[in-house]
Amino acid sequence: MCAIIGIAGTAETTDAGALAVEGLHMLQHRGHEASGIATMDEKGPHAMGGLGLVATIFNQDVDVPTELPGRVAIGHNRYSTVGKDERNSHLIQPIAGWYRGAPFFLAHNGNITNCKELGELVDEKRRISSVDSELVVRLIEQGGGASFEEDLVAVLQKLDGGFAFLILYRNEIYAARDPRGNRPLEMGVRDEDGVIVFASETCDFETLGARWKASVEPGTIIHVKQDGRIATRSFASAPLRRCIFEEIYFKAPASQHNETTSEFTLRYGIGIEMERASPVPGADYVVPVRDSGEAFALGFAWSRKSGIYYPTIFRNHYIGRTFILPSQNERAVAVGRKHIGSVLDLAGKSIVLVDDSLVRGTTSSKLIERIRKMGVREVHFRVAMSRIEHVCYYGMDWPTRDELIAPDKSDEQIAAEIGADSIAFSELGMLKKAVGGNPNSWCDACVTGNHWHKAA
Ligand code: SF4
Repeated sequence: MCAIIGIAGTAETTDAGALAVEGLHMLQHRGHEASGIATMDEKGPHAMGGLGLVATIFNQDVDVPTELPGRVAIGHNRYSTVGKDERNSHLIQPIAGWYRGAPFFLAHNGNITNCKELGELVDEKRRISSVDSELVVRLIEQGGGASFEEDLVAVLQKLDGGFAFLILYRNEIYAARDPRGNRPLEMGVRDEDGVIVFASETCDFETLGARWKASVEPGTIIHVKQDGRIATRSFASAPLRRCIFEEIYFKAPASQHNETTSEFTLRYGIGIEMERASPVPGADYVVPVRDSGEAFALGFAWSRKSGIYYPTIFRNHYIGRTFILPSQNERAVAVGRKHIGSVLDLAGKSIVLVDDSLVRGTTSSKLIERIRKMGVREVHFRVAMSRIEHVCYYGMDWPTRDELIAPDKSDEQIAAEIGADSIAFSELGMLKKAVGGNPNSWCDACVTGNHWHKAA
């Protein structure tokens, strides 16, 4: 999953680029491999981007208002991928295109699943990468419809998979979301001056002085015009398949889950249910794997029947980026080192380690190995996400099924493999009840194997 942000300013707005930088900072947890921003003003387009964190690219030497002037901006953070071969400039978005004599830019979160079929519609010589987002840009470029919007709609109707797009064209922004609502896209407004903000989640609205206004509805385009008017248009409909893993892992705790509940509160409640389902009587401490395990661990400790919340394992935020390491094993070792605890707190204790999810298991094994060396007596692992046994085709950069730890293993076998005394995963029915709405409206393909794209 990646992050996208869009700023549609008013006539008085001069700092859309700077607002986009702020917004991308807040969304950094969704992607830190590459970051980029594009703006437009009367002189034309302006774009900047690179591999790495927002703070690395838009650093103190960059005069953002000069480099990225304009009242409209879109930005993108890319999630880290596996393998250094993929770390090239083609991963930097927004991607530039050219439509009837004018430039446009596109930022994409998600994954298009029918690239092979779409690739046959594009002249291979015009492509510079194998990135699915570029394919969308090339398709828009070659559209022969009555207008940019008509060609955009025609392309969107051809796509399968999960996607949220922000597109910048002629000082206007188009925000589009896939018909199944698999990828999130939210809209906020700044009341003092009418600036419209689009973002993958709501956590940065407050930082930008905005408030949440609405979700971009699945299968619709929101077009913010130069005069500030907003037009909404439906381009397709399909049964909803919202990503449940977004709610468990990807979104920041400060984002909203829905109109009445924050992500933090949602996860706290799930933690309470996790303890009810799989208690650990006699445990001393409930310890989160930071940062994303915190809210679940607090909930898990709520009854105090399975230990008290005692977050004795800390995360070193200054150890550097681990995604630049080429192999998964090297990354796992480095991630294991990111977590530190004290033998004074842990020796002789029985702890419940609470994490958001278990994918390959390598990171968790390294962490448990480290805390075992501190003399922990028992480690009971509790996982907020249900067992991930299948590949995600819709935007999560997970490995092949063979690399996942859970398929074809019992809980006892998984616990033994990561070095835990016991393990328990959330039951999918409980998670669906917690996130609310129609249970069938949530994508759970990585848990059940019920993939929904056309070629599945
Ligand atoms: Fe989300 Fe899993 Fe569905 Fe992928 S397969 S979209 S991670 S719920």
